[in-house]
Amino acid sequence: FSSKLPKTEVSIFSRMSTLAQQHQAINLSQGFPNYPVSERLISLVEQYMRKGFNQYAPMPGILVLRETIAEKIASLYAVDVDANDEITITSGGTQALFTAIGTVIKPGDETIIFEPAYDSYKPTVELFGGNVVPIRLKAPDFSIDWAEVKSRISERTRLIILNNPTNPSAKIWKKQDFEMLEKLVKDTSIIILSDEVYEHMVYDGLQHCSVLQFPRLRERSFVVASFGKLLHTTGWKLGYAVAPKYFTEEFRKIHQFNVFSSNTPVQFAVADYIKDKSTYLELNAFFQKKRDLMLTGLKASRFKGIPCEGTYFLLIDYAQISDAAELAYAIQLIRQFKVATVPVSAFYSTFFDQNLLRICFAKDDDTLDQSLAILTKL
Ligand code: PMP
Ligand code: GLN
Repeated sequence: FSSKLPKTEVSIFSRMSTLAQQHQAINLSQGFPNYPVSERLISLVEQYMRKGFNQYAPMPGILVLRETIAEKIASLYAVDVDANDEITITSGGTQALFTAIGTVIKPGDETIIFEPAYDSYKPTVELFGGNVVPIRLKAPDFSIDWAEVKSRISERTRLIILNNPTNPSAKIWKKQDFEMLEKLVKDTSIIILSDEVYEHMVYDGLQHCSVLQFPRLRERSFVVASFGKLLHTTGWKLGYAVAPKYFTEEFRKIHQFNVFSSNTPVQFAVADYIKDKSTYLELNAFFQKKRDLMLTGLKASRFKGIPCEGTYFLLIDYAQISDAAELAYAIQLIRQFKVATVPVSAFYSTFFDQNLLRICFAKDDDTLDQSLAILTKL
């Protein structure tokens, strides 16, 4: 038997979370909240289950949820999206990414990825026979050299994947970045996949720019979002993809044979819940407090926090404490000091070590305080 993904290992998130459990460490590795989900949301799910909404949802997702998403996009980004033809509900952001990549990539196609990158992009492109062209961005700025991007575009470039706000660098794309991208793809048939699952985690008054706001990009883009991030419910696996009708039709051809449809009562409950805009408009402030708690606390340590503009991740530089490689140091932190993090080298396709660890601050304040008590002693 020959593997289709010979170089792919068990994901770094599973590995670090498993180690954290084995060593009873505070788990700041895999990105998920450890505090309770809204009672109102839970009771809405229960109500819809009791009302009998327990069978297959329509393949593209229930209409009321798609309409609510279209309203949300209109009010946030002043963009009209057609609920019928341009939005598909998926079983999480990961499935939306998988299906979008599957919709676009044919064997031999090239996909440009900015690294450090979320771990699912590369194996998914490869599974569909595509090749990844990684562009390495470096700490602490992770800024994009657009001349380099231009030089890496070839006749075979089919897709550019961007993640904004970016996991794990915690940087956000600025208007100028989109303008550069627009120039680069003009007169090409390159498609954009914009992973915006952290759109409501942007700090210090910065604004999230969606690719949807740039008409010349929007017409060639898939946008991916996740209710796991929006509602602190990563285990519910619900998300969606927005794309022009001609892309959405193709996307749904794959979606229908991948999952067919996503969890019905959760879709109804989410549609109800997010009608109250405060459910997501409060996220920026909610997470900024946690980010600040960590950044302020870390000032008393020998770790150096890298500026964090968005996402619920923070990168910390341990160069003053150890010269061990990132993975080795992350494992030492778990075994010896009982704090689990993710080595940033795991987000690069070729080995690149910057003495950086990623921590997730979507945790209750007690957990953050406990982890600070440990980290400040190192
Ligand atoms: N994209 C990025 C950048 C992520 O960090 C995540 C969550 N880990 C996802 C997509 C996947 O979202 P979901 O959990 O909804 O599958
Ligand atoms: N998105 C989460 C992270 O970056 C992990 C999701 C997963 O485990 N696949 O930590």
